[in-house]
Amino acid sequence: MGGAALRKIVVDEVVNSGYSRAIESSNATEHTMSKALGTDDSVNTCDCCGKTNLKFTVTIELDCGEIVHYGQVCAGRNTGKTRPQINNEIKAEAQRIRTAAAAEFRATTEEVAYRAKLAERDSNRAILSGRAAFEFVMAESIAADAARARVAAKYGLKSYEVV
Ligand SMILES: [Zn+2]
Repeated sequence: MGGAALRKIVVDEVVNSGYSRAIESSNATEHTMSKALGTDDSVNTCDCCGKTNLKFTVTIELDCGEIVHYGQVCAGRNTGKTRPQINNEIKAEAQRIRTAAAAEFRATTEEVAYRAKLAERDSNRAILSGRAAFEFVMAESIAADAARARVAAKYGLKSYEVV
């Protein structure tokens, strides 16, 4: 294998790894602190070049805090980030939102009451079984589900994503 070919492989590996940010930041000129937040298939026009009929856009928070929607090509060009980096940022943001939603849900009075009722039931396991066990916590369970749905809606998630 020639030196040039080997060098290309090495560069490709670096670009596809987490090290590419450091390399690219040395010649990136703008929006280096911008962050990809997710993709949006309800916005189909790129805020950068005006291209329309995109299948989806990447939602990006710019350095200044402004939220823009870019097509994939412009998303990379404006942030100096590779597509894997952008995808990783989107995943991290989704995880951050889920974690925040879960924490908020667990702190609701409804969920706290439901957990307390479950604990109470567990300590009465000998006398509560089957339908009686379910009915013992039913009201709190329904209230906790409503709280879960409320928190999920606030974060733009489905109820089942708040766990
Ligand atoms: Zn564009």
